[in-house]
Amino acid sequence: MKKLITVALCISTIFLSADVYGQKIKLIIDAGHGGKDPGAKSKAGDKESDLTLMMAETLQKMAQENNIETVMTRTKKDQTLTHEQRSGYKPEAGYKAYYISLHMDKDKNASTRGNKLYYNIKAVNSGISMKLADRISIGLERINGNKSKKEDSEAIILKRNTIPSVMVYYGYATNLQDVKMAKDPAYQREISMLIIRTILETRY
Ligand SMILES: [Zn+2]
Repeated sequence: MKKLITVALCISTIFLSADVYGQKIKLIIDAGHGGKDPGAKSKAGDKESDLTLMMAETLQKMAQENNIETVMTRTKKDQTLTHEQRSGYKPEAGYKAYYISLHMDKDKNASTRGNKLYYNIKAVNSGISMKLADRISIGLERINGNKSKKEDSEAIILKRNTIPSVMVYYGYATNLQDVKMAKDPAYQREISMLIIRTILETRY
């Protein structure tokens, strides 16, 4: 009995690896915008599309280190994707798949800050998407100190996917402090780990 408890404790302290429950996990990572569509821009000329690609690359690397298979919708700065090219993901046999679209917000007032999480309430698997949004929103507040909002969204990519899907806006591309953080590799790793942990803990 004592041995069993020790083993159980060991397992719980190891980071939940993707195959603990015998499930393969796939994460579709969508770096928002790109190519002809830079998305939001900072006064200093930073493009949302470059910032989201940086975050996507870090998330991809860390997800793979945690035995999560990854698909990147966009891998290059100069790549322009249509909504159709970046969405339409369906469940696959043998996998639990998740879709995370990375964005930064914009506002005329450069001091505006905050996080936003979007899901589509009518989409298949919306319950799981909402759980993901809940957990990521709380984690983001802890990491960057900005308030998080969660909203139902009619975004095309969310409506075209039938796997749990969330758009994650981690701060504002128009706020220089948020941009500075977004470029920091340690910050990228913290947000990536939040997303990975949330996925591993939100089974369906
Ligand atoms: Zn965006």
